[in-house]
Parts: sequence; C-alpha cells; structure tokens
Amino acid sequence: MPVVHVVVLAGGVGGARFLSGLRAAVGGADRITAIVNTGDDLTLHGLRVCPDLDTVMYTLGGGIDTERGWGRAEETWTVKDELAAYDAEPAWFGLGDRDLATHLIRTRMLDAGFALSAVTEALCARWQPGITLLPMSDERVETHVVVDTGEGVRALHFQEWWVRHRAALTPREFVQVGVADARPAAGVLDALADADTLLLAPSNPVVSIGTILGVPGLREAVRECQAPVVGLSPIIAGAPVRGMADKCLPAVGVPTSAEGVGQHYGARNSAGSRTGDGVLDGWLVHNGDRAEIPGVRVRAVPLLMTDAGTTAAMAAAALALAEECRRSA
Ligand code: GDP
Ligand code: CA
Repeated sequence: MPVVHVVVLAGGVGGARFLSGLRAAVGGADRITAIVNTGDDLTLHGLRVCPDLDTVMYTLGGGIDTERGWGRAEETWTVKDELAAYDAEPAWFGLGDRDLATHLIRTRMLDAGFALSAVTEALCARWQPGITLLPMSDERVETHVVVDTGEGVRALHFQEWWVRHRAALTPREFVQVGVADARPAAGVLDALADADTLLLAPSNPVVSIGTILGVPGLREAVRECQAPVVGLSPIIAGAPVRGMADKCLPAVGVPTSAEGVGQHYGARNSAGSRTGDGVLDGWLVHNGDRAEIPGVRVRAVPLLMTDAGTTAAMAAAALALAEECRRSA
C-alpha cells in the first residue's frame, strides 16, 4: 500500500483535538502534516510563545493539561507568582514553569538564527507527536484586533483581546501585522503539493484558518493542490462548541452558522464560487445542521469531539467525504 499523506490546516485547541482523532483514524502507515496558525504568537518577558503550535505539540505528545486544553499537565506556577511579586507586566498571560522550558529553548534557537519550522522540529524530537508539525510561516505574522475601547479606537494583540479582555470588546477588524512580507514556512508548499487529502480542521475560521490562508501564496497553493479539500464546521447549531469564535465571525461579516462558515470558505471550483478564491470541495456539518454551498459536497455527521472515539469517527468521515470528492472529480 502506498503511504497516504493527509495535510491539515489547524489552530490550537480545536485543531489539536481533531488531529488526535485523525491520527487514530488513519492508522500507523499514513503520514499527517499539520500546518498550524502562528498569528497568535507573542513575546512575553523576552520569550517567544507559540500558543497554537504548543497546544498541538503537547496534545499529540501526551503533555497537555486535558482539563484546560492548553499548557502542560501537572503544571506549577512559581515563576508566574514571582513575576507578579515584581508587578511585572503583562500579568494576564500565565506561563507555567514546565511550559517556560519550551519557550526558553525556542527563543534561544530563534536568537541563534534557526527558523521557527526548524525550532518546531527540534521541540517535536522530544514530544514525538506522530505527525509533522509546520508553522504556517517562518516570518512573524501577528493578529491584531481593532476595537473601540470607549476612549478611542485601538489595535490590540489578539492575545490581549482574547485572554485579557475575554473577547468582550467588539472587534471592528482583524489585522495580520507583518503578513505582506510573510511566506509559507519551509515545507508548507511541498506538503500541500504532496498531499493526497487536505483537511481544514474545525478551528476558528477567522483567527486560525483565516490567518493561515492569509499568508501570501498559501490560499493559492490550497486552491491548486491535486488533493480533495474537505473542511469540518467549527459551528454546531449556530454556536461554537467551545471558546468564543462567535465574537470573531461578525467582524468579517459571516453568520455564526455551519452554512455561513462553509460559504465563507467557498467552493474551490470557480464556477460555484462567488468570489473565485474558495477552497472547499467538501464540507462536513453536524447532524441537524444544513448548508447550501454551490459547488461543494455537503454531508452531516456527528461533529462533537467529546472523546477519542467520536473524534476519530469524525476524522474518518472527513476522509470518506474526501474520497467521494476524489471519485467524482
Ligand atoms: P484555538 O486556537 O485554541 O482557539 O483553537 P482552534 O482555532 O483550533 O479551534 C477553536 C474552534 O474549535 C472553536 O471556534 C470551536 O468552534 C471549535 N470546536 C471546539 N470544540 C469543538 C467540537 O467538539 N466540535 C466542533 N465541530 N468544533 C469544535
Ligand atoms: Ca489560537
């Protein structure tokens, strides 16, 4: 049997859960590459932190705090408490003691001139996630959120808006700072060209998948790849299952529904696509949800990632829909 290569665009928690289900669904022989959002990355206390890459790495490597969904299991917070005793800003982003080691190594390697993709590979040598993890870009691209604070319009780093303000300030716009000069990271275009199946994880459509597709050349590579492209809806019955994705969609004019997100991604086949930059061949929605997307094959299956079994079944359904799209192509 030839090795099958499944490539996935993914954010943090939703992406990580889906990838663990996919890893279980494909079996040992096949290859998985995840292209992960880095728009949430930030520098704290001089350390480079990559929340989505780390969530995926820790989840697949067995080091995640499963209750929180991010950060290390059995974490302690001595350094955070000591920083607080100095009144060191920012205090709203907690870096655990175990987690800090990851950021220390990453920062040291970046300072020594290694690309983020090489650093990620080095970190994964410890965690053995069983898949290839690639940052979307080796260049810095940081999502900022334009909000009206009541005292004027300001742009906040995505993490400050999300973590500190709990997304309570209505976003006017999301801006990818640095994106114009960014390129897909080393390995990303090769993975897309080599993919047998391409999946969009049920991740945040705006600040995870949208950010990845915003890297110049990446959307085009997805549109041109030989593999069928299937997305999974992160919206079920009009709500994000976890998190605050419903705070992001209105800012880009997208209804909080499986159909709204599917139409936003659009059909790859340009005849069916309104904008001519769509990326989907297939779209999976949750049982009971509906979506009409001209040019896209839509199927409804259970999409709740409640445990390993249901998540693996959902990944298998995505692969089956991709097969359907391949056969009808
Ligand atoms: P983040 O970077 O940690 O915010 O994670 P992602 O962007 O990868 O995923 C967040 C998205 O996952 C949220 O917008 C939710 O809508 C979605 N999500 C979370 N749990 C589930 C689930 O059980 N099923 C589905 N279909 N989507 C989910
Ligand atoms: Ca994220």
